[in-house]
Amino acid sequence: MITLLKNARILTMKDDKVFRGDLLVKDNKIAFIGENYNGEAPDRIIDCEGNVLMPGFKDAHAHTAMVFARSAADDLPLDEWLHTTIFPMEAGFQDGDIYHLTKLGILEYLTSGITAAFDMYFHVPEIVKASEEMGFRSVILATSDQEPISLLKERYLTINKPDALCSYFLGIHAEYTCAEERIKDVVALAHELKAPIYLHVGETEKEVMGCITRHQMSPVKFLDSLGFFDYGGGGFHCNYFTDEEVEIFKKHNCYVVTCPCSNLKLASGIAPLARYQKAGLTIAIGTDGAASNNALDMFREMYLVSTLQKVTNKNPAVMDGFEVLKMATVNGAHALGLNDCDVLEVGKKADIIMIDLKNPAMQPVNNVVKNIVYAGSKDCVKMTMINGKVLYYNHEFFVGEEIETIYAKATEITERLKK
Ligand SMILES: [Zn+2]
Repeated sequence: MITLLKNARILTMKDDKVFRGDLLVKDNKIAFIGENYNGEAPDRIIDCEGNVLMPGFKDAHAHTAMVFARSAADDLPLDEWLHTTIFPMEAGFQDGDIYHLTKLGILEYLTSGITAAFDMYFHVPEIVKASEEMGFRSVILATSDQEPISLLKERYLTINKPDALCSYFLGIHAEYTCAEERIKDVVALAHELKAPIYLHVGETEKEVMGCITRHQMSPVKFLDSLGFFDYGGGGFHCNYFTDEEVEIFKKHNCYVVTCPCSNLKLASGIAPLARYQKAGLTIAIGTDGAASNNALDMFREMYLVSTLQKVTNKNPAVMDGFEVLKMATVNGAHALGLNDCDVLEVGKKADIIMIDLKNPAMQPVNNVVKNIVYAGSKDCVKMTMINGKVLYYNHEFFVGEEIETIYAKATEITERLKK
């Protein structure tokens, strides 16, 4: 299948330049980018009408199936929220629930131009099935601290195949939820596979204090003492890092994944990203789950990533819009191990979105990048293409299933979990 996307403004994200031209997709890869394509006849032509083509957003921290808990419990203290709503609802899961709920989450990603998600949740085979059926790129993170280590290894070796839509990383939920012996077992496996490990870390002050009480060390320092980050990896949230922990992350090329909406709504804190950036850490952006956010919306995250740094540093010059857009695309791709989905370039995978410049919020076009970061919304996403396939175009889904069926199934499951 050859698709020609013609008459576009192209933002490759290799730099902040935007140029007029055509882009050709052959099967699942980008085969041409330039001013004017006159090669082999395409099977399909999409006239971009001067709209912007850019790499899709990468949601670098997600719990996709948690859409079941969207607006089911809000405005509550963290512990109460977890223990009175989230955990009891999760306890009611039956086979197949995660499969159906993941599909609903994927629909929302597509509307936000998100072409891959770092999905930390249970029932891995169901996540793989939902993603493959819909054509969505899920990077799944081991999370169940009860699963045998041999199963993690088996999944790592079987899911991670060249050109597969889904991939699998090692992880633990968090230091405070995982027994020390289990952490050591995961570290040993990571060393054997030479694989990175990811986890929730530095999310709340309570978590950090708990680790200091248990181990007389802050979480990153404690984990590093076990060799946790020897093959890289990263942390989700990272609101409370000491300078020493920043240095440990720098030494091991670990990624900081920031989730501002979730952190604000649960009153967890504000990650000092300008400080991390100055220290040379690489930052990516995640939505976290719909239970705590409640939207899976990269535009809202990007706006907050920038403006929270400006206000906390009392300096509107920090956290430039292009840097933030890079975090949401290029850095996210690298954090997810998707090095061939990071920028628009010949030979890279065709994970491409189109931003609708005919939307009033995108006019006038003084600066495409700043329009997207500071004035953009899901409403401006005109197309989401993953692996060369158009899954969302002009607010319509092409995912091989009626969306009403997906909504009905998710509602049915949610009603059961609430009982
Ligand atoms: Zn999370």
